[in-house]
Amino acid sequence: MKYNSTRGMKEIKKSTEAIIQGIAKDKGLFVPASLPKLDQPIDALKEMTYQEIAYHTMKQFLVDFTEEELKDAIEKAYDSKFEREEIVPIEKVENVNILELYHGKTAAFKDMALSILPHLLTKSLKKEGEGKKIVILTATSGDTGKAALEGFAGVDNIDIIVFYPNSGVSQIQEQQMVTQPEDNTHVVAIKGNFDDAQSSVKVMFNDQAFGKKMAENGYMFSSANSINIGRLVPQVAYYVYAYAKMIKSGEVKADEKINVVVPTGNFGNILAAYYAAQMGVPVNKFICASNKNKVLTDFINTGIYDIQRDFHVTNSPSMDILISSNLERLLYHISDQKTEVIKELMEKLETEKKYELPQYMKDNLKDFVGGYADEEQTLKTIERVYDETGYLMDTHTAVAYKVYEDYKAETQDETKTIIASTASPYKFTSSAIDALGIDAKGNEFELLLKLNEETKVRIPTGLKDLDQKEVKHTTVIEKDDIKNEIERILF
Ligand SMILES: *Cc1c(COP(=O)(O)O)cnc(C)c1O
Repeated sequence: MKYNSTRGMKEIKKSTEAIIQGIAKDKGLFVPASLPKLDQPIDALKEMTYQEIAYHTMKQFLVDFTEEELKDAIEKAYDSKFEREEIVPIEKVENVNILELYHGKTAAFKDMALSILPHLLTKSLKKEGEGKKIVILTATSGDTGKAALEGFAGVDNIDIIVFYPNSGVSQIQEQQMVTQPEDNTHVVAIKGNFDDAQSSVKVMFNDQAFGKKMAENGYMFSSANSINIGRLVPQVAYYVYAYAKMIKSGEVKADEKINVVVPTGNFGNILAAYYAAQMGVPVNKFICASNKNKVLTDFINTGIYDIQRDFHVTNSPSMDILISSNLERLLYHISDQKTEVIKELMEKLETEKKYELPQYMKDNLKDFVGGYADEEQTLKTIERVYDETGYLMDTHTAVAYKVYEDYKAETQDETKTIIASTASPYKFTSSAIDALGIDAKGNEFELLLKLNEETKVRIPTGLKDLDQKEVKHTTVIEKDDIKNEIERILF
C-alpha cells in the first residue's frame, strides 16, 4: 500500500518514506491510497493482548515493515513504561465506557503514539538507507512535547526541538518539558499560541532554502506531530482493542454499533477512530467534543470552517486550537479523494481564513456530531461525576463527558458508548482542585499532593517529584524567530 498527498502532488511514497518525511512537499498530508480492512473479524481478536491487536491493526497500514520489525517496535513501545498491564484499561462509569489512554510515561494519550514513533522512524531510516541526522521539529499545546521528548530522548542520530506557547500550557506540562535532561533534546517557549507555533513549524518544513542548508550540514527534518502518519496509525489500534474487549466482556454483541466520543484538538485522535471504523469497528456516531474554541463544533454543524474568531486559553489547553491539521485527511476521504478540492479548500483557509464544503461533502459528514463545553461546565462535570461515582476525570475528558451527556439528552440515543480519556487528572491539577472545591493554596506541585490526599487517586510516576528536577531549558523567543533559533541549536 502506498501513501499519497491529500493535495494531489504526484508523490507516491512507501509508509517508511512517509514516516521519515512527515509532510508532503505540496504541504498536504500523507494518506493511505485506500483505507485497509482488518484481515479477520474483530470477534476473533477478543482474547488477544494489546500488543497483539496493535500488530494486527498496524500491519495493514505499515506494509513496508517486516513482521519482525513491527513486532519489535510494538514490544519496545508498549511495555512496563505503561502503568497498567492492559495498556489501555476500560472503566465503566455511569454506563459509559471510559477508555483510559493516559497510563504511559507522560500521563497523556500522546504516549500511545509517541512511545512507538521513534522505533518506527529509526527502522524506516535504516530500511531506506538514509544517512542523514534527523531533526524532529514539534509544536505542542502541552502534551505532545513531553511525550515526544521522552520518546526520542537519547536516540542516536536524532535531535528533537519542541516549541510550546509560553503561556498556553499548564505548570506541570511546562515543568515536564523543561526538565528533560538528554543532550539531544531542545525545548523552546514561543511568545504566541499553539496555532502560531504550529504554523511556524509548518513553514520551516516547507522552507526550501533552509532545507538545502540543512542537507549540506547532514540534517533533515521530520515531524512528531500528528501530521506524521507514523503517529496516526498506532492510534487506530486502541479503538480496535476497545471494541474487541467490549465484545469479550459482553458489553456489545459482535457487529453491534457503538458511539465514540473524543475530546478533540488537532483531530488526530478522532480521525484514528474513523480509520478504525473503516477497518471494521462498527461505529454509529463520532462525537467530536470541543472546548470554547469550538471551530470544529461549528464546522460539523454548518460545513463552514471559519477561524476568524477569538482564541481562548481554557482549562483544557491541549484542545486550544483553531486550525485542526488532521481534518484535512478526513476531508480527503469524504471528498472521494478529490485532491484538487482539498487543495482549493486549504488555500482558502490560508488566504480567506475560512472555507465552506460543497454539499456532497457536507452530506458525507453525517456520522459526525459536534458539541462543546465551556470551562464552567467542564469543572461542574468533574465535580458531579466525582461526587456521584468517585471517578475523577481530567478537564479534557470532562469536556467529552459533558458533550456526550448533552448529546444523549437531546437524542435519547442509547447506543453503547466509548469516551476517549486523554489525560490523568493530575496533569491539570489546579483545575481538578477547583472543580472539587478543595480548599488549598500553593503551586501546582503542592496542589498535586493535596489532590492525592483528598481523592486517594494514584499519582502517575512521571508526575511525582517534578518540582525537584533540574530545569534544563529556559529559552523564550518571539514567534517569528523560530528559524534563527533552529540555526542556533544545530549549527
Ligand atoms: C492532544 C490532546 C487532545 C487532542 O487530541 P487531538 O488528537 O489533537 O485531537 C486532547 N486531550 C489531551 C489531554 C491531549 O493531550
